[in-house]
Amino acid sequence: KEDGSIQVVPGYRVHHNDVFGPYKGGIRYHPNVSLGEVAALAMLMTWKCALVGLPLGGAKGGVQVDPHLLTRTELQRMTRRYTVEILNFISPDHDIPAPDMGTNEQVMAWIMDTYSQMKGYAVPEIVTGKPKIIGGSLGRLEATGRGVSYCILEAYKNLGKKLDEKTTVAIQGFGNVGSIVAKKMQKYGATIVAVSTVEGGIYNPHGLEYERLKTWLEKHDHFKNYPHGESLTNEELLTLDVDILVPAATEDTITDKVAKKLRCRMIAEAANGPISFEAETILQNNPDLFIIPDVLANAGGVTVSYFEWVQDTQKLFWTEQEINRRLWEIMSQSFASVYQYSKEKKLSLRMAALMLSIEKVSKAMLTRGFFPG
Ligand code: NAD
Repeated sequence: KEDGSIQVVPGYRVHHNDVFGPYKGGIRYHPNVSLGEVAALAMLMTWKCALVGLPLGGAKGGVQVDPHLLTRTELQRMTRRYTVEILNFISPDHDIPAPDMGTNEQVMAWIMDTYSQMKGYAVPEIVTGKPKIIGGSLGRLEATGRGVSYCILEAYKNLGKKLDEKTTVAIQGFGNVGSIVAKKMQKYGATIVAVSTVEGGIYNPHGLEYERLKTWLEKHDHFKNYPHGESLTNEELLTLDVDILVPAATEDTITDKVAKKLRCRMIAEAANGPISFEAETILQNNPDLFIIPDVLANAGGVTVSYFEWVQDTQKLFWTEQEINRRLWEIMSQSFASVYQYSKEKKLSLRMAALMLSIEKVSKAMLTRGFFPG
């Protein structure tokens, strides 16, 4: 540390499946990181990549640390040390990390630099979600939130519902993903009635304005004393009577207790695993609730990460328009195939998405065969 002391933190990188191509998955810095959590998230990445048809496998990384308690220098040192520890497991053809909770563009830049220093030449394609100046892709920062919003649009279209100013949206978590969902849903004409951070939220039945929320959060880091609404807890936000609930914070925020009080008509899972196992069993019995599962809803992030890797590898960059067009194509096709399968087999969207992706992975594995035979 900067005071000369030494802090030891556990770090992980889990490879789940690489039948289609290099492992792909984010790196999380959070005090609750555990091997079990990282492994579960790695598996989710396998299904997500398979579902949207990317030639990538599933991985995840994590360091059990609170990045907010480190200085910038400490964060950089820890990131470089972690990169060296996983150096033999990552490469542009083997495993390509990306950001997740607690990591960002800067952390990716340090990983790219450490890897490149070890190789002796620049290897931008070793990570995605890095700054534009060193090979990052246009549109990556907005990609996940954009993908979630595309899924909501497709769901409304398929259900024959109209999305307008009467459509109310509550968003838990106003980070990379949640804030972009707010921006896009406002653009599509819906009314954002509540948003939150880990410290609590803000509610206004007449609508909250994205730019104002963003500017406020940049200054204050929380919504306490926000002048254009009333404060509410995260639990109150999750149980609001709204058309669309977007959990965009972390795992298991919709607990069984919350599930029993849920009043929304649709959940778009922007976060990974926001509905706990116990809550899911309660919600399964609610035929009026439409859930867009995480593997589908937030797949826009890994999709544009894939575009970034492709651009870095071919040393040829696309315009933002081109990236968003390709993202829209992949998200709408993926939504359509999951929706159609769920109708045909009379399954929830989650079960349909998982069955489709597991089927693809198992077909590919059987086609490749097992070595030695
Ligand atoms: P972030 O750190 O930028 O934002 C997280 C937000 O959630 C913050 O506003 C934070 O205050 C809030 N939050 C954290 N814990 C909370 C809690 N317990 N209760 C209420 N609010 C809480 O993170 P992000 O990148 O926006 O990621 C959010 C979720 O989306 C995660 O589950 C992540 O795995 C998932 N995801 C992110 C991406 C991406 O591209 N960033 C891609 C796919 C999935």
